[in-house]
Formats: sequence, C-alpha cells, structure tokens
Amino acid sequence: MIISKLPNVGTTIFTRMSQLALETGALNLSQGFPDFDGPQALRDAVGRHIAAGHNQYAPMTGLPALREQVAAKIARSYGRAVSAETEVTIVPGATQGIFCAVQALIRPGDEVIVFDPSYDSYEPSVELAGGRCVHVPLALPDFAIDWQRLQDALSDKTRLIILNSPHNPSGALISRAELDQLAALIRERDIYLISDEVYEHLVFDGLRHASVLAHEELYQRAFVVSSFGKTYHVTGWKTGYVVAPPALSAELRKVHQYVSFCGVTPLQWALADYMAEYPEHVEELPMFYQAKRDLFADLLKDSRFSFTRAPGTYFQLVDYSAIRPDLGDVVMAEWLTREHGVAAIPVSVFYQQPPKDLRLVRFCFAKREETLRQAAEKLCAI
Ligand code: PMP
Ligand code: GLN
Repeated sequence: MIISKLPNVGTTIFTRMSQLALETGALNLSQGFPDFDGPQALRDAVGRHIAAGHNQYAPMTGLPALREQVAAKIARSYGRAVSAETEVTIVPGATQGIFCAVQALIRPGDEVIVFDPSYDSYEPSVELAGGRCVHVPLALPDFAIDWQRLQDALSDKTRLIILNSPHNPSGALISRAELDQLAALIRERDIYLISDEVYEHLVFDGLRHASVLAHEELYQRAFVVSSFGKTYHVTGWKTGYVVAPPALSAELRKVHQYVSFCGVTPLQWALADYMAEYPEHVEELPMFYQAKRDLFADLLKDSRFSFTRAPGTYFQLVDYSAIRPDLGDVVMAEWLTREHGVAAIPVSVFYQQPPKDLRLVRFCFAKREETLRQAAEKLCAI
C-alpha cells in the first residue's frame, strides 16, 4: 500500500463547497472567483495570438514582453525598479510560484512560520520539502499579527515566514509599520520571506497596499508572489508571477523549470498586450471591488449576520452567532448551502487549532450585482 506523503490532506474545502453548490443549485459565494468575465479586449487578444501562431513553449522565465510589463507596473505602483530579466518570473499560477519558492528554500528539518488562518496550499508545500509549519494565530477580531506570539515562535530552525496581505480569508492588511517591525525582528536572523500578495490591487477605503516590493530591507530576502487571475478576473488562466532579487530568482527558476518549465504562451502574450494598452486597469480595481463590497454589505445590513467591512480582497467574513450559535462553521457553511441556497467557506479549516467558538464564514463578493442581490435576499431571510 502506498504510504502517503500528505496523510492529512483531503479534497480542499474550495472543491467541496463549489461541488455542493453545484449539486444543490445554491448561489456559489464560496470558492473565490468572479462570476463575470475578464475584459473583452484581454479575451480577444488570446484568440488573436493563438491565430497568429503563438502556440509553442514560452521562454522558461516568461515572455519578455510580459515580464517588462510587470516590471513597469511595479515601478508605477511601488516605486521599485526591478529587472525584468533577472527578478521577474512568470509562473502558471501563484500557487505554483509559492510551491517553487518553498522547494527552493526549505530543507528537511527547517521550520516555516505561517499565520493562521492561512491559505491551504502553504503547509503541503512545506511538508513536501521536508519542512514543518509553525502556526502563529493572528489576533482576533482584526486578524493582526500577534508580535509576542511571532517572536515566541522563532527558533534556530526558522528559515521562512509566509506573509499574506491582503489576507485571505479575513481581508486584513499588513501595514508599512508592521513590515518595519518584522524587518527589525528578523534583521539578525537567516530567515526568508514569501509575501503572497495576490490581492495586491483589492484594497479599499483609500488605504494603500504595503507591498514588500516597496520595502528595501525586506525585499532583499523575499519572494513576492502575485496572480493575474485576481487582477484581471481570469482565475482559470492560472497565470501569476514571482518577483525576487536575482540570487533568489535564480534558485526559484531552477525549481520552476522542472515543475512546469513555463507558463501558457498565448495567455502571456494577451496579458502583455492588455497591460500595455490599459495600465489604468489596476488603478480602477479598488473602486470596482469596493462598490461590490459596499453593495453586499449594505444589502446585509438588516440581516442577523454581523461583520465589519473587509479592508481588502474580495472576501467578506460574517459572524453568525446570532443565527445558529449551536453550529460549528463547517456545518454552518453546509447548512447555508443546502437550506438557504448560498454557499460559503468556513474559516476554521484554515487553522491548525481553530479558536474555540469561532462562528465565522466567508462569502466571496466578486459577483455580478444580480448575484449579490439574490444572495443577500436569501441571507436576510434567515
Ligand atoms: N494565495 C492566495 C491567498 C489565494 O487566495 C489564491 C487564490 N486562489 C492563491 C494564492 C492562488 O492563486 P492562483 O490561482 O494564481 O494560483
Ligand atoms: N483562492 C481561492 C479561494 O480562496 C480558491 C482557489 C482554489 O480553489 N484553490 O477561494
């Protein structure tokens, strides 16, 4: 019998809840993806490039035109001049980028700090490399870094800290002051960072995303990961990028070239064209998603769910203690799906040890107005 290398891993909650939504005909506000399409010009560009014969392998590190667009965007957004040649790598999805960065860094016995609730792909990536995750819970109710707990979790074996801001599932943001605090904490230690910034452009209320790319000291030891899927409403394209200083990028690329070798060619051409033609897209995103967040929040105002509006991402956490305090969140998410026709994601599954009495579920508001209205109507009737 095969001895599993990932004995604790089953089918992800995203697959399970999307499947349940499909079976029950519920509105799917569980797995994070838009129910609308990416820009027409972007989709047209893919067809154009396929017709033009851009169908063979892309360069291993990514199409130069796309790497240059990414570098230009980073200069505009974060004021850092990165080399498209040696610091930007296009990967088939942020998940794969994170996986490759972990494999490039982690050896058996190494410890990796993740903040709970943490995105589900981090721990298996670390375990496959022979490392061990040390889980540091974020402080409730704001999901902020608990500095004492972080400091206590550091050891001589700590090799990597994985950051995620804007944070899935809470929407919380790490501030520039917190990045400074982190820099001070790890200054004398041999610790690297993976900064998962896939929701970098989904930041609301006039707040600004504090990117590790804008932090000189932290960037020197960081892999910063992003995803075109989130930014251009095309999660199914599974195309993202990793930005890291040349020496780190070189190690990442050694892994990436044997995990997939390269990303999908016509998608890279299309993204490069679109980014060149519509650089304003990323500036318009915060308002676009803030309007959706506010519509959904306004519609839920008179429901029995309680919440504070998410500062970032396209997820809204809601507390359901006033409705079914007797139910754990996994059962609650299923109950909402089956009995009330709206699928959600439970939050406890992103914890090693969920806080007792956690009564939170996550809704994705990357949906058409009509979907949000229908969902809110069902949720207000509970
Ligand atoms: N990190 C986080 C926090 C995410 O929410 C997602 C979304 N699926 C990813 C990484 C993965 O992005 P991608 O689909 O580009 O692999
Ligand atoms: N990131 C998406 C979410 O949080 C899910 C992606 C996936 O299904 N792996 O819902």
